[in-house]
Amino acid sequence: MANGPATNTSRDKKPAYRPRTAIIGAGAAGMMQAIKLREAGLDNLVIYEKANEVGGTWRENRYPGIACDVPAHHYNYSFEHNPGWSHRLALGPEIQSYMIRIADKYDLRRDIVFGAKVTKADFDGQQWHLEMSNGQRDTVDFLIAATGPLHVPAFPDIEGIHSFKGTKFHTAEWLDGIDLSEKRVGIIGSGSTGTQAISAIANQGVNLKAFIRTPQWVFPLPNRRFGKTERAIVRAFPFIGRMAGSFYGWFFERVFAEAVIKEGWQRKFLSAMCKWHLGRVKDPVLREKLTPTDEPLCKRMVMSTLFYPAVARPNVEIVRDGIVRATEKGLLDESGHLHELDVIIFATGFHARAYHRPIELTNARGESLTEVWKKQTGAHLSVHVPGFPNFMLVGGPHSPRGNFSAIAYSEAIVDHIVKIIRYCADNGFHSIEARPEAMAQFRERVLSAVPKTIWNTGCKNWYLDEKGMPENWTGTPDEYRDILRDPNYQEFNLAT
Ligand code: NAP
Repeated sequence: MANGPATNTSRDKKPAYRPRTAIIGAGAAGMMQAIKLREAGLDNLVIYEKANEVGGTWRENRYPGIACDVPAHHYNYSFEHNPGWSHRLALGPEIQSYMIRIADKYDLRRDIVFGAKVTKADFDGQQWHLEMSNGQRDTVDFLIAATGPLHVPAFPDIEGIHSFKGTKFHTAEWLDGIDLSEKRVGIIGSGSTGTQAISAIANQGVNLKAFIRTPQWVFPLPNRRFGKTERAIVRAFPFIGRMAGSFYGWFFERVFAEAVIKEGWQRKFLSAMCKWHLGRVKDPVLREKLTPTDEPLCKRMVMSTLFYPAVARPNVEIVRDGIVRATEKGLLDESGHLHELDVIIFATGFHARAYHRPIELTNARGESLTEVWKKQTGAHLSVHVPGFPNFMLVGGPHSPRGNFSAIAYSEAIVDHIVKIIRYCADNGFHSIEARPEAMAQFRERVLSAVPKTIWNTGCKNWYLDEKGMPENWTGTPDEYRDILRDPNYQEFNLAT
């Protein structure tokens, strides 16, 4: 392979055994995991994918306006830079095409079983026994959940919603081909998804009501289309695209990530930019409706220059009164107004703590991970769950999630997992399990940094659990990469 990944694992040593690994999910992380395992000589692997195509979140989310709000040149595999991005913020279909190209270039389809949803996984002390929705079974040494942390759509509990006679769906389950023009459309939610969808739908000749319970700060990041010449130059000199990627990596990790975790110029700068942007909304009534009460970045920052102009259009109305219930005709708000609608769109996010679920994962003691995590979610280094040997997560509890590239941080996890499996294979360890005290120390490190985070300033979002504690990494992305780089095997119980 011309420009394959670097894995930093020893390929010279003859392994004590040839482990079989199953990856759940052929999204960006699962595919990268497979590429890197193969590259490290750990090619006895399979990817189980519930759908019939690769791409994960970019295959599933097809709502109008979908784009990645992390600049495209920073949103690709480090070993597969795409010089051909058409926009600063790549549009969803373009990222999906990139995923498909990766799958084809690395011949990943030969290891992917499509239409196979893993429903059950039982550990017998040495191996995981898997059951799939298509009736298939498998036994593997290592199991990796690359299932995507934001995957299971969340629907608000609105009384009477099932009586609504019109069409209703979640942004993650977009009705392909639906024509919204001339329709009375209500959209609930104005997070990163809602904002993108509202901006696009507003132009489709609809009568749009945006139900915004909590307005969010919007950072003015324009999504510029690259000109023909510009694209040709980047194609001819790919280092330019790589340099742009490095710049955005620096900007997002040094500015956005650091503003979240500590006081400093970054926080002041982002706050000033958002306030300036909001100030450009001319209509004072509209501006009032759009003004958040929390600090910028307390919720995940929304990036858009299209949203404010979209909601200022005469065919768009913002409804700030809460939804009391649904009727067969529409949504009733707390001021007693019934908003009659043809379509209701839920831009209401995901169950952010679903991680591996709804897969039933049971360890050798018969304990289910779902039950264990009901008390407290947690994973050592965000990857390894004590009590569940040989099982690893990409994007587990306390991984860094926010306004930066999920692909970049997933690569650090994927490399770490390769090292772990390679170490076990080389040294004949058939079982590796994080020690509970190691996880407790990791968790303590995460939690001790909470007081300095912006999340501590009082807001509600999917980053925080029911007790208001962040599920996310509270250090810098660099610190996260550091803790994953060289696994400390003293933190694990190993068995041959
Ligand atoms: P989200 O950030 O969880 O936002 C959900 C929205 O639904 C919020 O505005 C919430 O209001 C609203 N909502 C929920 N229940 C409601 C109810 N009963 N009544 C009124 N409003 C209700 O979900 P999301 O926008 O789908 O984003 C989730 C994550 O996906 C993002 O944080 C990001 O990580 C990822 N994403 C990324 C991109 C990208 O470009 N990279 C794009 C889209 C999404 P409250 O705030 O009042 O709860």
